[in-house]
Amino acid sequence: MKNFSYWERKHFWNYWDFTIIGSGITGLTGAIFIKRKYPKAKVTILERGMLPSGASTKNAGFACFGSMSEILDDLETASEESVFNLLKNRFNGLLALRRLLSDKQTGYMPTKGFEIFTDNEREIYENCMHRLHFVNETIAQTIGHKTFENADGQIDQFGFKNVNHIISNAYEGTIDTGLMMKNLIDLARSEGVEIYNGVEVSDIDYSGERPQLNTNYGEIKTGTVVVATNGFAGRLFPERDIKPARAQVIITKPIKNLKIEGCFHHNCGYNYFRNIDDRILLGGGRHLNKVAEETYEMGNTLEITDYLSDLMKSTILPEGDFEIDQTWSGIMGVGQSKEVILEKVGASTIAAFRFGGMGIALGTYVGKSVGEMV
Ligand SMILES: Cc1cc2nc3c(=O)[nH]c(=O)nc-3n(C[C@H](O)[C@H](O)[C@H](O)COP(=O)(O)OP(=O)(O)OC[C@H]3O[C@@H](n4cnc5c(N)ncnc54)[C@H](O)[C@@H]3O)c2cc1C
Repeated sequence: MKNFSYWERKHFWNYWDFTIIGSGITGLTGAIFIKRKYPKAKVTILERGMLPSGASTKNAGFACFGSMSEILDDLETASEESVFNLLKNRFNGLLALRRLLSDKQTGYMPTKGFEIFTDNEREIYENCMHRLHFVNETIAQTIGHKTFENADGQIDQFGFKNVNHIISNAYEGTIDTGLMMKNLIDLARSEGVEIYNGVEVSDIDYSGERPQLNTNYGEIKTGTVVVATNGFAGRLFPERDIKPARAQVIITKPIKNLKIEGCFHHNCGYNYFRNIDDRILLGGGRHLNKVAEETYEMGNTLEITDYLSDLMKSTILPEGDFEIDQTWSGIMGVGQSKEVILEKVGASTIAAFRFGGMGIALGTYVGKSVGEMV
């Protein structure tokens, strides 16, 4: 136990009714909904980083729920019911986020989403068009009519090269991820949730009457634990189907007369780019070296940043000069299944992780569900 004073033990480091591990979008929304349900309860979030340090402040800010090729890809390995249920939950998650915070607080822009198909993706595009009507009809009641449409007419408007086809998604948009997270943290605090940064939980001891969290500041007992550590959850639950997946990102300096607006998916969702503040943010390339990217370590590799720069030059910004301003990475949580792990583990723990590349939508949905489960 660190050198806690009598006062600190009395008012800070003592029994908490609910402890959420992880202050990403899932942990924060989970904490808010628990506190709303039990206003008198002590609800505390423990976060290992100075800031949230997983994916929620590192991501691309797509308010998205799935591109055509990803949906068809998923239908290869999962049942129709599970794929379309996941889509519905993601869409409802976006609505829940937009109810929790105003569009001004998230920087939400209803830009539409676009999937681009380059020279060597003709077969994938044809398959998407072949199944487009079926997908649109299936989600018409839960998401909206004519979600996906051919948007080839916009290729010239965006100024792309090597792009032969585009399919748009009418209900996707973009957010300012940092603004959204800042406002979510402020909202949680304003509703009475306490957040302690720099506290890492190394394990949960269930041998006593109540779970005990062992941390770098010593141990603490709690009533209910919510594990919202996503890509890092394998450290606390090594037996579960959850692995870290690093995702790398580059961003340009501001570009004059930028023609691109919206969130764009490429290569079955492996690559993604958008405009933000007159810049292009581009992420992806994980498929080049999935083994090396299965890591808990943040960082960038030349293999992937060079690939992303080349994609920027050859396809996204073929006409203009651009300079890469910054690079970074974040850690996602993936598994064999794309479904989220949301379940009670024993009497006093809720596991809420494995969001893949679409946690903005699902994180809010799951956070809300956590509030209903406790
Ligand atoms: C580069 C990138 C781009 C992405 N783009 C998009 C996108 O455009 N749209 C979209 O919907 N999704 C996107 N995602 C995915 C999305 O960001 C995640 O699915 C989502 O943020 C997951 O939220 P979370 O709260 O569950 O996890 P996280 O945000 O990862 O939060 C988990 C938190 O737990 C903390 N933690 C971990 N272990 C411990 C411990 N032992 N003790 C204490 N704290 C701990 C971590 O520091 C972290 O802050 C992207 C992800 C990345 C990395």
